[in-house]
Amino acid sequence: MLAVTLAAACAIGGAEFAAITLHAQPPALAARTISRKEPPRKLITMTFDDGPKPYVLYGTSLPSGTKSQSLLALLEREHVKTTFFVMGWRLAKSADTFCVEKDGGHTCRSAAEEEHRLGFEIENHTYGHGNFRLMEKRYGDAWILNDIDRCSTIIESITGERPRFVRPPDWTIWPALQKQIEARGYRVMTKSRTVPAELRDVDSEDYFCAVKNPIHCPKPSLYAYVLARVEARERRGIYGHILCFHELPVTVEVLSRLIPVLKERGYRFVTLSEYFHAVAK
Ligand SMILES: [Zn+2]
Repeated sequence: MLAVTLAAACAIGGAEFAAITLHAQPPALAARTISRKEPPRKLITMTFDDGPKPYVLYGTSLPSGTKSQSLLALLEREHVKTTFFVMGWRLAKSADTFCVEKDGGHTCRSAAEEEHRLGFEIENHTYGHGNFRLMEKRYGDAWILNDIDRCSTIIESITGERPRFVRPPDWTIWPALQKQIEARGYRVMTKSRTVPAELRDVDSEDYFCAVKNPIHCPKPSLYAYVLARVEARERRGIYGHILCFHELPVTVEVLSRLIPVLKERGYRFVTLSEYFHAVAK
């Protein structure tokens, strides 16, 4: 007869350990203890700010005659669903000409419709993408709240659902304004250390790599930097990450290498609402 006793199961620093004691007959197989470390639940949610940008989502022709990678095609190929924090003005009719000319024949609105059709989430990065500090000085709090609502209304006209998350441009926020935004039913995305690390945005800093003179682009590479951020968090026992990217061609290139590696390391990719459902207490 074999009796198995689950002696203890406890969480230490985010990792779960279980000690199992086996009492076996005959006595030659005396009781022994096996310590087994259960694998942590590894979750990643990727978000993309500042779109929709069809030339990134679909790829575009390059001066070299080749085509840049399509972000949507990459995500579909990898079976990864993500969340897009869009700027409301891009979804308006008035942006059609700008988007079509700049972005190779697609309107930004049609790109957002495609995102929704494919099962990606669309959330609120405000209508005008104005820095809240500047906007408050210029127009006051009420203007900012209206700008957020304006973005939600136009997203809802595409998805049929009111967004639940707001990411302030440049993460600029202060407690009084945050309270007002939350009172309207939103969760405010933040890098602040006042929230648990699992619920904090991990800034990829990809925007530093897309400028003319990318002196602040992470070294030795954006790929290595993002991977190192994840590894550093793992060393602290953190296995849930909200990775914040932007709709940029350089980001698509990096993700085409990064997603397979993170999958190999046991990560599962989910949308932001799925992530909060699984991780937020
Ligand atoms: Zn932004």
